[in-house]
Amino acid sequence: MKSSPDNHALTTDNVHSDRRFGVEHGGIHKPIHTSVQYGFDRVEDLIGAFQGTYKGGYQYARQGTPTTAALEAKITALENGVGTVCFATGMGAISAVFLTLLRAGDHLVASRYIFGNTNSLLGTMEGLGVAVDKVDACSVEAVAAAIRPETRMVFVETIANPRTQIADLAGIGELCRQRGLIFVVDNTITSPALFRPRAVGASLVINSLTKTIAGHGEALGGAVTDTGLFDWAPYPNIFAPYRKGDPKAWGLVQIRKKGLRDTGATLSSEQAHRISVGSETLALRVQRASSTALALAQWLEHHPKIDAVHYPFLPSHAQHERAKSLFAAGSWLLSFELSDPTTLVEVLNRLSLPIKATGLGDTRTLIIPVAPTIFWEAGQEARAAMGIAEGLIRLSIGLEDEADLIADFERALA
Ligand SMILES: *Cc1c(COP(=O)(O)O)cnc(C)c1O
Repeated sequence: MKSSPDNHALTTDNVHSDRRFGVEHGGIHKPIHTSVQYGFDRVEDLIGAFQGTYKGGYQYARQGTPTTAALEAKITALENGVGTVCFATGMGAISAVFLTLLRAGDHLVASRYIFGNTNSLLGTMEGLGVAVDKVDACSVEAVAAAIRPETRMVFVETIANPRTQIADLAGIGELCRQRGLIFVVDNTITSPALFRPRAVGASLVINSLTKTIAGHGEALGGAVTDTGLFDWAPYPNIFAPYRKGDPKAWGLVQIRKKGLRDTGATLSSEQAHRISVGSETLALRVQRASSTALALAQWLEHHPKIDAVHYPFLPSHAQHERAKSLFAAGSWLLSFELSDPTTLVEVLNRLSLPIKATGLGDTRTLIIPVAPTIFWEAGQEARAAMGIAEGLIRLSIGLEDEADLIADFERALA
């Protein structure tokens, strides 16, 4: 795996992060702090905490604990950002961004190739008076054509799940910079081990920590990281109480207050600890799973019973050159189509290693037929618009040995 110059210290920084920020009694992990209340020695400090003049303390765990703060510091370093707010889930993080930064009458441009629940949430935003245009974000021209005077934000994913389309990240980043728009990039599939959206001008980076950052399929979490690139000073939707001090912090302060505090999608200290430990092996796991995914994609592409394989590091992928120039590897996500879709149930039932389950970024390989499950609610018309064939199968590659996985597919397809 190619290691980009700003990326070489990723694991070193991560495994030493807790220690550098200071751990009680010389422990090497930040402890799991379970206090809900935090007391102050002086009432002046308690007052200052409420008025934003006393820094560094904790008040009430819905807004954060020392354990969630330690994880936020790790995610900030992983994404090369200036600050992070963690949430109970990835959807909690995305909801907070939309609900706190957009108002009725605003316009949002989103990629048409997007996680199903994010797509559903966009419908909720439309109900609240936010206009939404869904465009082919693989082309910056399509995004530019949708921009109106009321446009405030552009939202894209890096590698779209499940068809692996890759947004024109660099082009859209430059467009948003010129137009003063918030550029939100959901980095869940690539993760900071393969790509840091700050490099293409992202304003805010979303990670579903549930996936490859926690990595073991046993903790839910989400994060919003501010890259420091967006100028919040002229942004009209920042509430008066948060227009204080350095404008660089305004966006994230509003996301923490209006998003985390008021909606309560709080990550618990126990979960933050699991995610934090999982994140230590992020780069190793992503490197291994990406290498297995590429080998399996190449093998599937040559199989006579397979019609199409969608994987960014295959030369046949529509955005192959873009993927090679932006990402350190192709990721653990791939999808394919059987030549004869009527054999789908039979083939999947014959596989013994991949677990028939929804979810992504586990240590175990997960497999799911897309149309009748995760994209069922969207309906066939929406599926077609997102490039999702009725026989599409999605794979999230885990840490099994490559030869075992290929042998399993060989048996199932025979
Ligand atoms: C899973 C996922 C989410 C939502 O994350 P949760 O932690 O499950 O709420 C958002 N975006 C993408 C790309 C995802 O894969």
